[in-house]
Amino acid sequence: MSTIGVLALQGDFEKHAQAINKLGHSSVLVKDSASLVKSDRLIIPGGESTTMIKLIDRLDLREDLVKYGKSRPVFGTCAGLIIVASHVENSGFTPLSLIDLNVRRNAYGRQINSFIDDITLTTNGIETLYEAIFIRAPKITGCGNNTKPLAYHKNDIVMAGNENILVATFHPELTDDLRIHDFFLNHFG
Ligand code: GLN
Repeated sequence: MSTIGVLALQGDFEKHAQAINKLGHSSVLVKDSASLVKSDRLIIPGGESTTMIKLIDRLDLREDLVKYGKSRPVFGTCAGLIIVASHVENSGFTPLSLIDLNVRRNAYGRQINSFIDDITLTTNGIETLYEAIFIRAPKITGCGNNTKPLAYHKNDIVMAGNENILVATFHPELTDDLRIHDFFLNHFG
């Protein structure tokens, strides 16, 4: 059993902690460096990326998070993906740049354009369907050489990873299907 930290400054952190607990691991809500170092892995949840990055900087957590993400597994979902990307097309902030990825925020439109649809997971060399929830989701508009696509919605890459960073444009914590969290726990780090 490992301890999974969930960055708990803003956004949908509680549901991630619940998913982790259902999978038999303990979770810790990360609000400072002390709780970050207790975590074997970290999840950065969905929410509002501009607000989240402001809080990260206000609490002086940026350097610690970047250092952490260079050696330990991090899973960024939705706003969390935007936070760990290397380049955000339409935001005024500098992301943490833990994975070589271009993203566009709110790429499907406004809240009303949120949707649920099947995506194709291409993990473990097999293709399987997964029902994904997209809420004011970003789009991955480019992947660096070290970033591997892991799931598609139509022609769009919606999940990708490098050696220890996993990102998804959707919200795996909002369904009872725990395959994505399980994949993070078993294939990263
Ligand atoms: N649109 C949000 C942002 O840009 C992300 C939405 C989400 O995390 N569900 O930060």
